[in-house]
Amino acid sequence: MQRLVDLHIHTNLSDGTFSPEKAVEYSKAKGLAAIAITDHDTCKGITPAIMAAKDLDIEIIPGIELSAEMDDRDLHILGYFIDWQNEEFSKKLEHIIRIRKERAKEILKRLKRVNVNISDEELFKLADFGCVGRLHIAKLLFKKGYVSSISGAFKEYIGDNSPCYVKKFKLSPKEAVDIIKGVGGIAVLAHPKTINAKDRPLEDIIALLVKDGIQGIEVYHSDHTKNDEKKFADIAERHDLVMTGGSDCHGFGKKQILIGKIKIPYELVKKLRAACWSRRNLGH
Ligand code: AMP
Ligand code: FE
Ligand code: FE
Ligand code: ZN
Repeated sequence: MQRLVDLHIHTNLSDGTFSPEKAVEYSKAKGLAAIAITDHDTCKGITPAIMAAKDLDIEIIPGIELSAEMDDRDLHILGYFIDWQNEEFSKKLEHIIRIRKERAKEILKRLKRVNVNISDEELFKLADFGCVGRLHIAKLLFKKGYVSSISGAFKEYIGDNSPCYVKKFKLSPKEAVDIIKGVGGIAVLAHPKTINAKDRPLEDIIALLVKDGIQGIEVYHSDHTKNDEKKFADIAERHDLVMTGGSDCHGFGKKQILIGKIKIPYELVKKLRAACWSRRNLGH
């Protein structure tokens, strides 16, 4: 039987709703041979996931998803096979999370100005043990009846062009890649379909990212059509990038549970690991 994997899963340590244990249990039930835990700006879900996977014969690949910006363009960069317990790295992440908290408070202030009342306490209770983000705020907007859906929360209040949007502190792509490489990881461009390519061809953007050290691209993703997969697979080939894929599951955070919606062959994990190790061995 072919071994299948999902390389993009969020837990409740960032803006997913599953605990790491639950994510592992669910992935096992879906028949996956390996998963990557890729929370936004935190690695706190990785050790609990590894512990939970111990007797289940499912491999946990340590990962992270960092946000970067190129000319005002949002980019998400995944890191795999990272040394998630590295102290300096943990400090960097804690710093990013502290800035996220300040930004979240600023969003709540702006919401207050339009008569939407969510207290700092309510928000931080929800995002208690991890990394706070807009999905937490969207959930509260929904729960408190200000909007009728999560996507409505983004549309009406906190989406990129909405009245209460506050920009997030972002790394440059090179900084994000260097952080990942600094802990032995390999950097992969997440959900390339979401990149704003209105005023610059996507291929140019990707070529720049490759120069910055990106070595892989998420060809398979819950939001990609077959055409998207083909397009990004072609791009991967032209730029000699490793192809990856994952569901980008946020638990119940996004309408439906996505774990296992995207399953890619374990062979791709082997390629990813090989690319990571050969770079480490070459020392760059
Ligand atoms: P943040 O990192 O705090 O800016 O929040 C980004 C999170 O919000 C990611 O998990 C996105 O997938 C999610 N997100 C962004 N826009 C939307 C949207 N329109 N509907 C649902 N989730 C969204
Ligand atoms: Fe998220
Ligand atoms: Fe993302
Ligand atoms: Zn994600």
